[in-house]
This record gives sequence, structure tokens and C-alpha cells, in this order.
Amino acid sequence: MKILNGKLLSEKIFKDIFNEVQDLKKNYNLIPGLAVCLVGDNPASEVYVRNKIKACERVGFYSVLKKFPSDISKENLKKEILMLNADKNIHGLLVQLPLPKGLYEKEVLSWLDPLKDVDALTLENKALLWQGAPRVVPCTPKGIISLLKHYEISIKGKTAVVVGRSQIVGLPMFQQLLSHQATVTVCHSQTKNLSEVCRSADIVVACAGVKGLLSKRDFKKGAVVVDVGIHRVDKKLYGDVDTEGLKEHLSALSLVPGGVGPMTIASLLENCLEIAKLSCWNKR
Ligand code: NAD
Repeated sequence: MKILNGKLLSEKIFKDIFNEVQDLKKNYNLIPGLAVCLVGDNPASEVYVRNKIKACERVGFYSVLKKFPSDISKENLKKEILMLNADKNIHGLLVQLPLPKGLYEKEVLSWLDPLKDVDALTLENKALLWQGAPRVVPCTPKGIISLLKHYEISIKGKTAVVVGRSQIVGLPMFQQLLSHQATVTVCHSQTKNLSEVCRSADIVVACAGVKGLLSKRDFKKGAVVVDVGIHRVDKKLYGDVDTEGLKEHLSALSLVPGGVGPMTIASLLENCLEIAKLSCWNKR
């Protein structure tokens, strides 16, 4: 079984981005900038946000972390986001999800400038994605496609199952696999015959957010499995897939940690770089 090593691939992507940023600074005086908004004190979100900022520093991006208390008013949060929209040093803008109670994702995301929406979560960017003409592809699905391509796993003509239908992972993953010409089924919490559907797939993307939901009995021999789930138990990380006995059963697997997580961050940087370059070229 091949290990789909997202840590290793992300390191290569970071290096390439670092080199490109040096060129952009030298030749165009352009420093890509990313702003991340964190509302409240969700410990998992704090870790994710910290890793994103660290990655920006590694590749030479300008980065801003804006932390707001969970009881920030809607009006004040909107004001802060609009200020980041107007900030010329910021090219990519991200609001870390989930938001605390009382703030509605759809409403908060609608305040983002679609031209800076680095995870493609605004209505305009979702529409472009589903039309097959995205400005940028949402970071986690983009990272997964990069990982599959890097390991030369062909998607075209394959049967794929996505377990999860969230706006941020499951649905754009479905769109991406479909646009890469797989035949795709999406499963969710109300799916009756999950195991049977998964066993029919050449490629399974597990993004249900349920620790150990899928295991050997749910995969056909030789399947490729991508594990998106992240579950922290006693300081150890686990995924949605129970890995016992998979080594001889699957043809490829992404592990948690070291699989999709680092690829999500690498894709975030790629998207931000892309947006920064576009904004620079459009001014010229
Ligand atoms: P979510 O809770 O928004 O969505 C989960 C989806 O899974 C829902 O559509 C639900 O219908 C489905 N589901 C829940 N229980 C199920 C079950 N028993 N059987 C089948 N489907 C079921 O979660 P999300 O934001 O999409 O995240 C999913 C997981 O991925 C979480 O563990 C999250 O931490 C992780 N995540 C990882 C990365 C990364 O970079 N590695 C990025 C985003 C999310």
C-alpha cells in the first residue's frame, strides 16, 4: 500500500512558493498577504490558525491574524472584515470555521470580498466552482486532488465515494472528483447502506468527522482511501478511518496526521499566491 504523504508533498510546495515569492518581491515588489480571522476560543481552530500563519511566515507571505472574542457583535465583526477587504496588503482572506453560536456562517461569509475569498466559500465563488470556472478551488478538496495527482492515481473513469456533504469539504470534493471525470456518489448521515456504497468505490474520501467510521470491511481490495477527518484524543490525532489491517488491503491511503491536513495548508498558500498575482497583473 502506498502512503499518500501530504507532509512530504506540502514541503515541496512550500519550497516552490518560497522561491516564487522571492521572485515576485524582487521583480514586482509584490508580497502576497493572507489575513485569517478567528472568532472565539475553539482550541482546534486555534491550532489550525496558528499552523496557517506559521506556513505564511515560512514562504515569506505577509500575514495577519485577527482574533475576536466569541461575543463580538455582528456589526463589529462585519466592520473588521470590510477593513480587511479594503486593505491593499491583504490578497487572501479567511474566516476560520466553525463560528461561535449567534453568528451565522452564511451571513459572515457574505461579507468577504469574493476576490479575496481564498477558500472559495462566498456565493459568487461557489457559483463559479459549480460552473466549472473557479477563481480558486476550496483548499481541502484542492489539496486532495493535488495529492492524488502527485501519486499518479488516475481519477478519470473511476468510481468515487465522498462520505460527507459539508459546504467546505464534502460538496466541493464531489465537484472536484466529478470535474476530474470520476463517477461520484455522496454519502451522508442519512445514508442507509454506507458500507455497501463505499465497497463499490475505487476511491473513497472520508470526511464525515466521525472517528473510525470506516474500516477494512468498508473498502474493496485495492481501493484508494483519503482520510480527511481530524480527531484529537489525549493529544493524539486520529482520522475517520480505522487503519487496522489496511496495509495489505488498500492500494493507497492518506494517514492522519500527515495526509490531508498539510495539503490543505499548502493549497491555501497556493490560492493566496494565485489571487495576489492576479491582483498585481490586473493593475498593470
Ligand atoms: P461537518 O460536520 O460540517 O460535515 C460532516 C458531514 O459528514 C455531514 O455532511 C454529515 O452528513 C456527514 N456525516 C456525519 N456522520 C455521518 C455518518 N455516520 N455517516 C455518513 N456521513 C456522516 O464536517 P466538515 O467540516 O466537513 O469536516 C469533516 C471532518 O474533516 C472533521 O473531522 C474535520 O475536523 C475534518 N477536516 C479536516 C480538514 C483537513 O485539512 N484535514 C479540513 C476540514 C475539515
